[in-house]
Amino acid sequence: MRVAGIDIKVHVTFALILAFGAMQWGAAFGLRGVAFGLFSTTLLFSCVLLHELGHSLVAKGYGIPVREITLWPFGGVAQLGAKPKTPKEELLISLAGPMVNVVLAVLFLGGGLLWLGSDGLRYALMDIGKSTPTLRTLVALLLGSNVILALFNLIPALPMDGGRVLRALLSFKLGHSRATGIAATVARVLAVGMFAFAVAFGHLMLGIIAAVVFFGAGREAADQKAVDSLQTVRAGVAVNPHALVLGPATLIQDALKAMVQSGQSAFAVMHYGRLLGVVARDALLSAAGLQGPGGYVAGAMQRQYPMIDAQASLEDARQKMNESISPYIVVSDGERYLGLVTELELTRHLVGTAQQQQASMASGFGWLKFFR
Ligand SMILES: [Zn+2]
Repeated sequence: MRVAGIDIKVHVTFALILAFGAMQWGAAFGLRGVAFGLFSTTLLFSCVLLHELGHSLVAKGYGIPVREITLWPFGGVAQLGAKPKTPKEELLISLAGPMVNVVLAVLFLGGGLLWLGSDGLRYALMDIGKSTPTLRTLVALLLGSNVILALFNLIPALPMDGGRVLRALLSFKLGHSRATGIAATVARVLAVGMFAFAVAFGHLMLGIIAAVVFFGAGREAADQKAVDSLQTVRAGVAVNPHALVLGPATLIQDALKAMVQSGQSAFAVMHYGRLLGVVARDALLSAAGLQGPGGYVAGAMQRQYPMIDAQASLEDARQKMNESISPYIVVSDGERYLGLVTELELTRHLVGTAQQQQASMASGFGWLKFFR
């Protein structure tokens, strides 16, 4: 499914949640309960999807590509192709999701009040746990879920929306790097508190969320350190001057051998000192399948490639690779080709481990409360 040019994917394990909702209601109310369970679970997840679309559409408004939205049993995740460029962008993108739930809650509140009156709606909300599969229950369920989705996601704990809001607000004064450090510390303290609460009250789901927040915050802090370190290195310095180069008439099978032996994931294709194109691992592998190993590299290479100036930082290179969804970027000094930056060059400059740099928005844990 596609909405506003964004792929909407539903993870297979999602079926478990549907089955769970159907069983929970079906156990007490038979077939009618099963139908209600399926319908209400689908609607709850539509609210999560709208939340993610809120993030995504504001991000797209700022020119940030949105790869896809995936619905997992624990909530939705919108994958952004780049990080917000300014604190204001991060603030508005992060707020947009919870605000969608605020708007939905207001709509269900208004509708519920008009239909049931204030007393009727109050009783419906108090009865959620022990009520029957009726429209009244559904309205109460959706109202409650959206309030919880909004409030829960606004807890100021990275990587949740509220934590991003906190970081953005701190960034206005302190800069992104220090703001991330502080927000990550706040998040880990909150996560420990959440975990203690979860243990004390035997709330398994909250315990899992606390762990996700704790490690997620650690990753945000580590990512930021990586960004700080990549910013200090120029792309022109990072390229490998001894990298293997292929010719247009190199055979695919020889290119594959070179790939295995050199560990390079992409090759420049040069002819008499001029860059003709670039061929990356995936292109080589699919060319081997399509043309056979006896085909030529010229048929597999890309003639359109992302480029960056030698003076730009590795962080700029990484961002451009992310935006163009490319495993490499061509580094040039004016007209002169210098080399490629790939994951390998990025990793080399990140002490020890490779950092998967992707801005992703995880949210929507709150609704699980209803299924405890
Ligand atoms: Zn969100």
